[in-house]
Amino acid sequence: MQVIQSTKLANVCYEIRGPVLEEAMRLEAAGHRILKLNTGNPAGFGFECPPEILEDMLRTLKDAHGYGDAKGLLSARRAVMQHYQTKGIPLDVEDIYLGNGVSELIQMSMQALLDDGDEVLVPAPDYPLWTASVALAGGTAVHYRCDEQADWMPDLADIERKVTDRTKAIVIINPNNPTGAVYDDELLRGLTDIARRHRLVVCSDEIYDKILYDDATHTPTTAIAPDLLTLTFNGLSKAYRVAGYRSGWMAVCGPKTQAGSYIEGLTILANMRLCANMPAQHAIATALGGHQSITSLVLPGGRLAAQRDATYAALTAIPGVTCVKPKGALYAFPRLDPQVYKIKDDRQMVLDLLRAEKIMIVHGTGFNWIEPDHFRIVTLPRAEDLTEAIGRIGRFLDGYSQP
Ligand code: PLP
Repeated sequence: MQVIQSTKLANVCYEIRGPVLEEAMRLEAAGHRILKLNTGNPAGFGFECPPEILEDMLRTLKDAHGYGDAKGLLSARRAVMQHYQTKGIPLDVEDIYLGNGVSELIQMSMQALLDDGDEVLVPAPDYPLWTASVALAGGTAVHYRCDEQADWMPDLADIERKVTDRTKAIVIINPNNPTGAVYDDELLRGLTDIARRHRLVVCSDEIYDKILYDDATHTPTTAIAPDLLTLTFNGLSKAYRVAGYRSGWMAVCGPKTQAGSYIEGLTILANMRLCANMPAQHAIATALGGHQSITSLVLPGGRLAAQRDATYAALTAIPGVTCVKPKGALYAFPRLDPQVYKIKDDRQMVLDLLRAEKIMIVHGTGFNWIEPDHFRIVTLPRAEDLTEAIGRIGRFLDGYSQP
């Protein structure tokens, strides 16, 4: 009997760990060393777990072997609640759901919201888990354009044009993966005005809110529009460099009176997965309440800031490559001038690079960017390693063309 995957997966794709990674693993098995610049996993580049988080995890581990509350450990949810309250965002502990990373909560939020054919406005380029989660839930991701000429800011007119009577939600990723754009309050006002006018749920993915460079500041979307139902996503993977602990949260912000049934749906889904990883939940209060070591990494001269600078300098030194300098997050999303580089299939380009230079990056179309003229690179390796690797990418691109 042939076992065939469900048609539910027909439009679900997550290229960051797709066929290119499979080829990298094959090359590794054959004895090659691959430089993986494809995932935002700080631990892979020598970033250590903050010691107080590790100590607390170890201390609480012996008591964390039982199932816990489906929505999450009360003390951790209280810490998340207080974290937002100090920013002037009113929340109750019951508004907070803890999950195995933000990834699980993104999927829950879409499963509970969408019927077949419902539409969600998702940025292009996007962090592709959003598009995949909308599709898996039976919905259609309608991509709105972020404008590279305007430092990758969302194009409000394009969003407005794409709203239909099936549109249920809008996704905002700020700071943005893959572009590194950080949105100012005026732009957030523009985005939330559209949501208000069309009665959309706002999904605000703020997992990089503490990874900001230069003079960038971050405003939670719900602070701009407290009258809108906003799901705010965040977690420990990036700012606290513990992606493997799988610890994230979703805060249901704004008025809940009209959303009782949706919230019930979220709670059913939380109950169905019993609870999130308990040991990692013990790390949340420690992380939010402790020393914010991320700050020194992103300040001028800090390791992450220096790596962002090195990435930008090396990329823009390649002829025909331009890049909007990232203001936040852990990535750059450079453009390959189509006049210079004849690329029809950017996944093939990335595969060719992998085979030639043993460097793995992700093609731009993997982020639901239409044209095959971008790629994403993580800014996590040491500055000198990034400079060397990007130099090799430049040499590979020199003369590269596809038939
Ligand atoms: N949202 C964005 C924008 C991300 O970039 C990532 C991971 O790269 C996630 C969510 C998922 O994070 P988590 O490790 O909490 O599942």
